[in-house]
Amino acid sequence: MKYAQVLVDIKKLGTKTFSYLIPENLKDEIKVGQAVSIPFGRRKESLKAYIVGFSDYLEEGIKAKEIEEILESEPLFSSAYLKMLEWVANYYFCDIQDVLNTALPQKFFEKNVKKYRKPKIENKIYDVEKSKTDLKLSPAQQKIYDEIKHVNSKTSLLYGITGSGKTEIYFKLIEDVIKQGKNVIFMAPEIALVSQLTMRTIERFGADSVAIWHSSVTEAEKYETWKKLRNNEIRILFGARSAVFAPIQNLGLIIIDEEHDSSYKQSMPNPRYQAGDVAKKLCELYDAKLILGSATPTIESYYEAINTNSLFVLKERYNNALLPKVVVIDMREERFEKNYSIFSRTLVKNVEETIAKGEQVIFLINRRGFSSYTQCMECATVIQCPKCAIPLIYHADTNSYKCHYCNHVEYEPKCPKCGGKTLEHFGLGSQKVEIMAREKFPDYRIERLDSDSLSKKNEHIEVLKRFQEGEIDILIGTQMIAKGLDNKNVTLVGVINADLSFNLPDYRSSERGFSILTQVAGRSGRGDREGKVIFQTYNQDNIFLQNAQEQDFESFYKNEIELREMLDYPPYSKMIRIILSSKNEFRAEKSSLEIEAALSDYIKKLSLDETLLVLGPAPCVIERIKEEYRFNIIIKNKIGDLGHKTIIRFLKSINLPSDIKMVVDIDPSDIL
Ligand code: ADP
Ligand code: ZN
Repeated sequence: MKYAQVLVDIKKLGTKTFSYLIPENLKDEIKVGQAVSIPFGRRKESLKAYIVGFSDYLEEGIKAKEIEEILESEPLFSSAYLKMLEWVANYYFCDIQDVLNTALPQKFFEKNVKKYRKPKIENKIYDVEKSKTDLKLSPAQQKIYDEIKHVNSKTSLLYGITGSGKTEIYFKLIEDVIKQGKNVIFMAPEIALVSQLTMRTIERFGADSVAIWHSSVTEAEKYETWKKLRNNEIRILFGARSAVFAPIQNLGLIIIDEEHDSSYKQSMPNPRYQAGDVAKKLCELYDAKLILGSATPTIESYYEAINTNSLFVLKERYNNALLPKVVVIDMREERFEKNYSIFSRTLVKNVEETIAKGEQVIFLINRRGFSSYTQCMECATVIQCPKCAIPLIYHADTNSYKCHYCNHVEYEPKCPKCGGKTLEHFGLGSQKVEIMAREKFPDYRIERLDSDSLSKKNEHIEVLKRFQEGEIDILIGTQMIAKGLDNKNVTLVGVINADLSFNLPDYRSSERGFSILTQVAGRSGRGDREGKVIFQTYNQDNIFLQNAQEQDFESFYKNEIELREMLDYPPYSKMIRIILSSKNEFRAEKSSLEIEAALSDYIKKLSLDETLLVLGPAPCVIERIKEEYRFNIIIKNKIGDLGHKTIIRFLKSINLPSDIKMVVDIDPSDIL
């Protein structure tokens, strides 16, 4: 081969590939994945680059310069790894550059390799040591463990109610894989959760064999971890969704805990990948196994598991701990009885009793900020973000109004319509609940945990630690605290407004609502005392709320799968969403009409119009973001791979005017 394609990071352009001549003296040593130095630009500045491929030819008119030297002879990734990235780029319809930008730590491209100093890896914050805790599985756990070990299918779903001991089963399976000399990727959705599960994992396997990988790990740490992975020094890579892009060697097993969690899907920017689907691909490439685990699996995963005989169910809590009792309180009734507080009388009584016993309480309020919208008292206009068509949310701690889409902030907004200054806040957010809880329960120790309170690094770990140690009586939080927390002293969970979880205009909102309520209920009574849960609602008749009250996933599934089938939603189709946007509303609409017409035509000519359903165009639920008007076309693909390839081929043929932006979201996690 004469030429090498190298990947290099050019300021402002991002990572790009270029061709370089391979000098005679390097011909025998050069390999994919090596770091080399190349001359770049008119001034022939030396840059660090990575070999990603070879060829004998150059495109016409290009004159290649020579590679200078090999900087690191040990390759930092393999060609199989590049194949996986290529699959991601093709499936998610994006540039390989975007995928590389996501996958490779930025540190890869720092010029001076010699000056590079090893960072201190901060495993210390977890402050745990390996303790020899070889737990014996219960008979129920042992049975599931044996079955999963011997199942033929590559992917298994472990559906186990909260507290049933899924984690212990994962640990046994991990141990087995490590004994065979193979390695594991263990994924969990949120950092707040990662930290608790991280401690358990490190305790079990020792800090030396576990590496941590998520968005708040620094680039320098990631670079170090990358090298360790390449040298096969790590047994378990523990991380959030981006961990699927780490270059783990001898992969034997991937575990995705809380597989239903929407944070496994990257919705912005490209690549808009779903970590579970990428993991499936990885497992194919490496002949490894994939285990999905959840107390509230997605409808799609459950459906697939049933149909491939790979569903494993744990119905009892470990040690027969009782599932908490869930009580539903009708808040309309409270109003009727002249209680206008956000706390029902039942909730207040239970809080007092619980804390009097020295036990702890969680309040869930599934919205951050102070309130859900602010209204002008003179003309009733709702104050919206001027750039995005959604209400601004009041934040009491900074006395400001924030847009939760674009982060636009206003300090003293006036009504845009009448100029009125008398504004009133309606609806509930976590901050308001915190303030009202402090008023109602002045003697208790109360803390809030949501993404606003996470600004300081590691602060959430501190709060969680204090909560675990019993120094907080009531922990208030958003969905963040619904998951994973294992505090045996929590015996009461209050959901301040259960309806909030169900009312997003999205086909997955019942699934999300059911899941969050069931998950948060599972935080109560995890020790040997029975837990209690209180759902406060204005809509007692909601069937999904009733399913959540009974913590009955099977009934929920039966109700929901019927709707999905009727409306051709996943798992009965795969969805592709095309969003067209422009500063000019008319142009955005015109362009989306044209594309829809061309697409429908294309599909009809192939006689696929009964199995590739095209909907729209329609204004998106959020019609405007950052001053861009948004329209979407939704495709329901009922024929899998063939349908996917057909749509991708069509998308590649589109020529867009320069004032129109197009985003393609494959398997979107929502359609807002
Ligand atoms: P899940 O992941 O399903 O929510 P966990 O694995 O966290 O459940 O288990 C719930 C609790 O029961 C944990 O505190 C865990 O330590 C304990 N537990 C589970 N299995 C065992 C076992 N075999 N022996 C002792 N304790 C166990
Ligand atoms: Zn905005």
